[in-house]
Parts: sequence; C-alpha cells; structure tokens
Amino acid sequence: MHRDITRRDFLNGVALTVGAAIVPSPLFGVFDETGNPEQSPDYYPPAKTGLRGSHVGSFEVAHSVRDGTFWSHAGTPVDTGEHYDLVIVGGGISGLAAAHYFLKAAGSKARILILENHDDFGGHCKRNEFRPGGRLLLGYGGTYSIESPRPYSAVAKALITELGIDVPSYHKYLSQDWYRSRDLRSKVFFDKETFGTDKLVINPVPLGVNATDDLETVPADAWKEFLAQAPLSEQGKRDYQRLHKETKDYLPGLSSDEKKARLARLSYTKFLTDTVGVNDEVVRLYQVLPHSWFGVGIDAVPAQDAWLLGYPGFKGMNLAPGPGPGANYDSMWTKEAEDYFFHFPDGNASIARLLVRRLIPEAIPGSSVTDVVTSKANYAKLDEDSSPVKIRLNSTVVRVKHQGDPASAKEVEVAYSRRGKTYTVRATHCILACWHVVIPFICEELPEKQQDALASAAKVPLLYTAVSIKNWSAFEKLKVGSVYAPGSYHSTLELDLPISIGGYHCAEKPDDSIIVHMMRVPCRPGRPARAQHALGRMELFQTTFETMERNIRDQLGRTLGAGGFDPARDITAITANRWPHGYAYEYNSLWDKFWLEGGELPCEVARKPFGRIAIANADAGAYAYTDCAIDQAWRAVGEITKS
Ligand SMILES: Cc1cc2nc3c(=O)[nH]c(=O)nc-3n(C[C@H](O)[C@H](O)[C@H](O)COP(=O)(O)OP(=O)(O)OC[C@H]3O[C@@H](n4cnc5c(N)ncnc54)[C@H](O)[C@@H]3O)c2cc1C
Repeated sequence: MHRDITRRDFLNGVALTVGAAIVPSPLFGVFDETGNPEQSPDYYPPAKTGLRGSHVGSFEVAHSVRDGTFWSHAGTPVDTGEHYDLVIVGGGISGLAAAHYFLKAAGSKARILILENHDDFGGHCKRNEFRPGGRLLLGYGGTYSIESPRPYSAVAKALITELGIDVPSYHKYLSQDWYRSRDLRSKVFFDKETFGTDKLVINPVPLGVNATDDLETVPADAWKEFLAQAPLSEQGKRDYQRLHKETKDYLPGLSSDEKKARLARLSYTKFLTDTVGVNDEVVRLYQVLPHSWFGVGIDAVPAQDAWLLGYPGFKGMNLAPGPGPGANYDSMWTKEAEDYFFHFPDGNASIARLLVRRLIPEAIPGSSVTDVVTSKANYAKLDEDSSPVKIRLNSTVVRVKHQGDPASAKEVEVAYSRRGKTYTVRATHCILACWHVVIPFICEELPEKQQDALASAAKVPLLYTAVSIKNWSAFEKLKVGSVYAPGSYHSTLELDLPISIGGYHCAEKPDDSIIVHMMRVPCRPGRPARAQHALGRMELFQTTFETMERNIRDQLGRTLGAGGFDPARDITAITANRWPHGYAYEYNSLWDKFWLEGGELPCEVARKPFGRIAIANADAGAYAYTDCAIDQAWRAVGEITKS
C-alpha cells in the first residue's frame, strides 16, 4: 500500500493541490500569468487526472463572493466593451441547450456568450480520458447516461433526436453478452470494519443497482451460496431471508392509501427495525442501497420510496400499484422511461459535445453522432472573436445586474472573474443556468422570497471515481462485474460498460486495459437529508486526492486481491471527480413537508423570470436528470424571447 504508482502523473492531483496552497491567494493561483490557457495546444481538460469534477481553481472565486470577501480585493472591473444578445451563466447541459434554443428563436446571427467557471464545458456531463499504453479509454466523470425515471418530455426528446442520437439503436453498440458469456456476476463486498471480516460474496438479489423483491428471478444456487458465505450471524441470515420471503401485512387494518401515507413518513430503516423487526446486520447490509438515487442511505429515505424501488419487505402489504402522495421522482420509474436509455462511453458528455458542435462547429470536428465519441475538442475555438457564439471557460460570474430599473432596463451587466481580473460585458438578456445556491450571491436584486427559494436548492454531494487499470483478469478470476460495498469508502464499483461506437472499442480480452467506475456518497447517516448533504459537501472539499487515492487502493486491493489484483502494479491512473454540488435536490416526504401537503414548490418560486433575467438549470425543476436541464432551458428561453 505504501509503494508508489510510478506510471501515474500526479501533476493534476496532489501536486496541484499543494501548488494552490502556496500561491498568495487561492483566487489567483491556478493559472500562469501569460496568455489565455485555452489557446495552448496542450490545453485539454478531459485528459487531466487526479482531483477533477469541481477541480482546484473552479470554486474559490464563488466561495469568496459567498463569504463577502471578493469585492474588497477585486479591483475595478475592466469593461470589455462586449455586447451580446444573450449571456448565459453556466456551461452545463442547461446553458448549452439554452444557447441552442435561443439561436433557433432569435436567428443564427444572434450573439451569445456562455460563461463557465470550470476548465471544461458540460457541467456535470464530464468526459474523462486515459491513454494507457497509447490506447484511448473513455469514462464518465459525472452524468452516466440518457435515462430518467419519468419519460422524457416531447421537448427533451426532440433535442436528443435533433442531435442525431437514435436512442433505440443503443443495443447496436452494447456488447450484450460481454458479462453473461464470462459469467461476471454482481457481488457484495463485506468489509471487516462493518461485518467482522473481508469477504466477496455473490449478490443473490442485485442490491444497489436495480434492487428487486422478485425472488423468482434469483437463481437458487446464488441464494444458497450467499447464505452459506455471507459473514452474517444465524439470526442475521434468518432475518435476511424473512425480509425477502415473508408475506405478512405489517400494517394490518389500514387501507392501501393509509399505508402509503404512513410509509411516506417513515424511513426505510425504521420500517426494517421497528415494523419488520430485522436485526442490525441486515440494516447495515442495506444502509447504502439508495445512495445512487437519493445521495443518502436508508435512514433518510422514506419507506414508500423503498417499496416503489423494489426493496424487500412489502410482499404482504397489499399496496395498490403506483405512488401515493409524497413519492420521490426517483421512485416513479415507468416502462416507457426505462426503455429510453443510451450510454455513450463518456456518458452524457457526448450530448454536451454534440451541442457545442452545433453552437461552434470548429470546436468539435466531425459530423456524426458516432464520430463525436473520438473527436478531439479544439478548445482554442471556443472563444473566438469571429464566432457569434462563444464559450468562455475558467470564468466565474460574480455579479448580474440590470442597467437601471429591472422593470424597464434595456440591458443587463454581467461581471465575471477570470485569471485574477474582473471584467464586465453587457447583454440584452441573461439566463442563469448555474447552480441555484449561487444565484442569491451574484444577483442581489432578486426579491427576497425568490432568493430564499434559490438558496434552499443546495445540491447532493457525490464522488465519481474512474480508475484506469492495466487489465481485468482479477475480475475474470473472481467472476465479478460489479460490487456493492455497504461499508467501504466507495459504495459501488463496476467494470465499464462494454460499448463500442464509431472508432471507439471496448475492452475485449482480460489483459486489455479498462476503466473501473466507483461511486462514493459522503453522507452522514442519522441526520436530516439536507444536513447530511452539507457535511458531505464539506468532506469533499476538504479531502485531499492523496487520501482518496489511499482509500481507492485499499478498497480495490481488498476486494480484488484474491483474484491477483495489485493496486500498485495494476492501477495506471485515477480521476476522482468530486461533485460537492452534485445532483439537484429532489423533494423527499421525510424532510419536505410541502412535498406531502401540496402548494407552490420552492423550485417554482426560484425559477420566476425577473426583468431581463431568466433562470434555468436542473435545480429549476428539482429533478436531477439531463431531460430536466433541457426542459428548464427551453422554458427559460421561452420567457426571454416572448418579452
Ligand atoms: C455525478 C452525477 C451523475 C449524474 N448522472 C446522471 C445520469 O446518469 N443521467 C441523467 O440524466 N442525469 C444525471 N445526473 C444529473 C444531470 O447531470 C444534471 O441534471 C444535468 O447535467 C444538469 O445540467 P445543468 O446544466 O442544469 O447543471 P450543471 O451541469 O451543474 O451545469 C451548471 C454549470 O454552471 C456552472 N456555474 C455555477 N456557478 C457559476 C458561476 N458563478 N459562473 C459561471 N458558471 C457557474 C457550474 O460550474 C456548472 O458547470 C447526474 C449528476 C451528477 C452530479
């Protein structure tokens, strides 16, 4: 564990963090002082490894605006003299889609500037690239796929189609037999700190990904193997089986609606312990099951949602199909929604790249939805004088203000910080497609009620780690494709999906290099969901890459060691995409009374247009999916173009 990983480039991980700490001000510490970094032929963010996602240099300015320290040392802003028809704050899917819709409404000559604080466009749609031994490996650093619990709206579907993505053709690109033919199974890793011993055991019901209560689909040998090998006490095993098999109505005498109402106000943990009465080992086993949906464990997830997601314990409850009041969006999967799925090797970063290609064709060479996968973005083209649409990276917006009375003003002034200097541009309209929690700090003229609603949309923190490994022979030897790890640093790890598209080819042989994707949700069980998110956010900002790396090496070594995996030898690079501001916050019946009781939602108050300013982002729909980011962009553009 103490050996160096000699092949990896530490520059973007440990060294950058250290570098940022020794410059005089963290606000100005991340660029050299000459030229525009994006113009350099070496400027290529997708290939950076180490601590990515909200990388060093992306958030310091925004935090100093929040803390009230920015303007005291910002100096007088430099007026660039630039005027745009539209300035968009935030270069995620919502900002890029807003630019696309605005061009359609206002004509292709409309002048648009997109300001983005990160060094890459796409927001949560983040592309990670590795080149072990010269071979290109693509991974997703954030948004995984086109998928949504609710069917895509006509608007969002139309955009996906217009970009050339034929969703039903997905199966053409997926090597469907890849896992099955190699018998790579889903397994549970029991760790010694939580369960007394380290053990990798078959997962009889796919916990963690698509949980299922349907035991008919569970192979008998898997069930037997799990019960024989799982390091659970006899009582724990009995409770585990009872939870899955018992057909008891735990809330007798109540109607289905009454039961749903009760379950909506009860955490799944309480349901398991107080209603079903299983022992603590079963609770520990299930604790992190909803991480990928809710960003919290079962202590903060309503039992009604657990039932809707197919978690065990509800077989005999006689609940009528369909959600009752207060169900979370994530629990409302429909067949239509499930079938609308498409995964690019870099996740929805391909959607961001297809949108950028529409806006600034020279920036993403090529012409098809398949060639976009391997096309190398030319970052120097993003912000060219001659282009009507510009994307200015590494630029944090610090103030948005109407020039005069918002009711009658003809222009909005937007100030942004870039490389230690503050600049202003003016625009006829502005769309705030950035995170809602940022908006009250940069747009102080908004009404107080709206500012409060915006501030309540604090996002869900997540860590998405992509680990490039030399080969996957340990996975093959252990017959494992994905691991659910209830007590480990990352709660899931899985081999990359076998997708070959355009000139990109997935790993084939066990000695081919491949990416392992891992997810950590830094929540703090036992507290209200928002408090858990706040603490997790702090953890992600404060954890060094070195600590993450040690945890990753430790986890992969312990999980796969029996298959011959040696972290120091087999890991070629790590990209830890930290998202302190990750998923849009979705309402939850345990913590958001209004969600159960009805009335105007905070997101409806937050997204109201104000003078020449409209508000987009997935936060505006309180729904953490790409289709929401698109729908909200479409609405925001509609608001400014009809005025
Ligand atoms: C880890 C992760 C995995 C996900 N997986 C999926 C998935 O599989 N499928 C799916 O549909 N959805 C998924 N989502 C949700 C989906 O990514 C989002 O709903 C969508 O991408 C949000 O797009 P957006 O443009 O609204 O916000 P963002 O992508 O967050 O973009 C907003 C941008 O505004 C920038 N910004 C903020 N403040 C400022 C400022 N002051 N100045 C300039 N710029 C600023 C931000 O840095 C950011 O880049 C995932 C989200 C995360 C975090």
